[in-house]
This record gives sequence, structure tokens and C-alpha cells, in this order.
Amino acid sequence: MDQHYYQELMDFYKAISLLSLEEIFTVLVDRLPSILSIHYFTLFLYDKDKRILNLLCHNHPQEWDYFPELSNSLKTTQSTFSTPLSQSPIMETAILSGQYILEQCFSNSSYNRGKVNPLFKKDFFVTIPLMIEKEIVGVLNVNDGEQDTFDQSNLEFTLDLSEFISMSVSNAILYEKTRKLAVTDGLTGISNRHQVEQVLQSEFKRSMRYDVPLSVILLDVDCFKDVNDTHGHQKGDDVLVVVASLLKKVCRANDIAGRYGGEEFLMVLPQSNAKGAFKIAERVREEMMKMSFAADKSNFSVTASCGVAEFNKDSMENIDQLVAVADQALYEAKNGGRNKTIIGHAKNKK
Ligand code: GH3
Ligand code: MG
Ligand code: MG
Repeated sequence: MDQHYYQELMDFYKAISLLSLEEIFTVLVDRLPSILSIHYFTLFLYDKDKRILNLLCHNHPQEWDYFPELSNSLKTTQSTFSTPLSQSPIMETAILSGQYILEQCFSNSSYNRGKVNPLFKKDFFVTIPLMIEKEIVGVLNVNDGEQDTFDQSNLEFTLDLSEFISMSVSNAILYEKTRKLAVTDGLTGISNRHQVEQVLQSEFKRSMRYDVPLSVILLDVDCFKDVNDTHGHQKGDDVLVVVASLLKKVCRANDIAGRYGGEEFLMVLPQSNAKGAFKIAERVREEMMKMSFAADKSNFSVTASCGVAEFNKDSMENIDQLVAVADQALYEAKNGGRNKTIIGHAKNKK
């Protein structure tokens, strides 16, 4: 390996050793064309279970107008594109075999479906599966350039670079997954206690500083122990998932709902006073009452009780005091017969 080759490889490696996919894409768009002497590239992520390719990044000027080979199968969802693997014979073969494919004359190749990409002035097509160990994470395609063909030394260099790309992309994906897991409740998929408390903390500070309203709802499923005892723990879990999705549904843009404990949920409602939060809690409570859960023995329904508290700057100096007011209201709702919402009132002057 000559010095220049090694240096270029190392520079690229350093530049894309990043944990954010967005930043990796920026580096690829900036550097890949010049470093490989090509004009265009696309990078797809491979979803093995669904056998779908998801476009991650590219530098094509006009999106898929210029990609006739795939234009029929690409679905547009916001700015992302995906296609079944079977729609692209060249990517399909590369992914299933785990081998790169270099076609110097793509228009004459067996992978071509009779459509020519007007963007490419040169006819070569290179497809490289991106692998980590033996797992395929995606595929890199490079096309067009100053040269008529894609020569062997360029191919070797591209293969070396693609190993770094695979590594960086999969590290970034793993990092994002781990980060998400750290803030998410495993059962329900909504925020976990730590996360909802973090949000409450920052909203609390904002309310204190700018004197804007902030309310919380503490919701606890009624007689949940009986649900588990009668219908089994799994059914109990199903109920919690439904409660979480109901809470998520009523959340407005800045609201957040999290699982606070076993069958207890906390909703943080910035810009809401107690009256507004009460309405939302009642909506959730009423919707829950209407729901029917299927079970072996018989269908059943579940109710919930809610305690509401509004931030009061004269009597509260931390989030624990705010949540304690909601907790006291929840306790009163339980004592008052359950299936109700009570607004709590801060008593002590701080
Ligand atoms: P109350 O109306 O007073 O709130 O009565 P409750 O039965 O809902 O309250 P209690 O605190 O006596 O029981 C809560 C139950 O929730 C006990 C616990 O086993 C169950 N639980 C906690 N976490 C989970 C979970 O993740 N899944 C399931 N299925 N049950 C859970
Ligand atoms: Mg309960
Ligand atoms: Mg409870």
C-alpha cells in the first residue's frame, strides 16, 4: 500500500468515524465523489426481515426522476425512499451473494431492465454490499465520472472505503438504538421514568423563569392487580400498552407521557393550567372506560384514576413537590371510589 493511498484511506476513516448518521452523510456527500473520482453515489440500508432497501443518502440532483431503474418501486414518504430488494436485480444479486458487482457497460448487462439513466454519461455501475462480519447492513452504488470505465485500482480503493462506511454506519445505528433504549420503557415504547422526569425538570425551570403554566397528570390503573390475577400477567401487559398508546394519542406537540412505575403514568403538559390538564385526563379516563379487552374467561374493561397538579411558583420549588400534589390528588381519587380525576392543591407555603 503506497503512502498516498494509505493517507487518503486514513483521512477518510477519521472523517466518517462519527456517531450521527446525519453527519456521516454530510461527509459522504462532501468527499466520496472527489475521493473516488465519480459523480454520483447512493447508499441504501438493507432491512433483512422485510427484504427492503431504504435510501439513506445520495448526491443525485433531482431525486428519482433520474433513477429510472427504481422509479416505479420507490415510495415517497416525506424525504425517504424505499424499495423491495427484488426491484433492483443488481443490488439484489450483490446483497444475496455478499459480492460486489462491477458492470462496465450497464446498458448491455443482464441487470439492466432496458431503462437508461439519463443522468449518467458513462455506462459503468458499481454495487458494493456493506458488511459487518457476515451481516449485510446495506449497499453502496457508484456511477458516472470523468473516465469511461471504472478501473481496478479505483475498485480496490472503493472496496476499502466501503468497509469504513459499513463500520461507521452500523456504529451510528447501534448508538442511536442504544440511546433510544435508554430513554424508552421496554414494554410500552413510551418514555421511561427517567426521561419524563428530565423533561419535567426542564419545563419546571422554564415555568419558574418565564411564569408560564405547567401541569402534570398522574394516572394509575384501577385494581390492576385483579386484572393480572384474573386474566394473567400477559393480559395485564397488553392493558399497559393500550394505556400508553392512549396517552400518546392525546399528547399535543410539547406534551410528553411516560411510564412512571408499574401501572402508573405521568403526563407533562407545558402551557396547560389545571383546568386544561383536567380535561385531558378526563378524556383519557372516559376513553379507557369505553374500551373492551378480549380475554379467555370474558371480555373485560379497565378504569383509571388521575391526579392533576398545576405548577405554583409560590409554593413549589422542585418537581417532587409538583408530583406530590398530583399524587395526593390521585390518592383522593382512589379513596373517592376510583375511576375519577381530582385536581390537587398545593397547601404549604415554601
Ligand atoms: P389501585 O386501584 O389501588 O391502584 O389497585 P391496584 O391493584 O391497581 O394497585 P396495586 O398497587 O395493589 O397493584 C398494582 C399491580 O400492578 C401489582 C403488580 O404486580 C402489577 N404490575 C406492575 N408492573 C406490571 C407490569 O409491568 N405488568 C403487569 N402485568 N403487571 C404489573
Ligand atoms: Mg393501580
Ligand atoms: Mg399503582
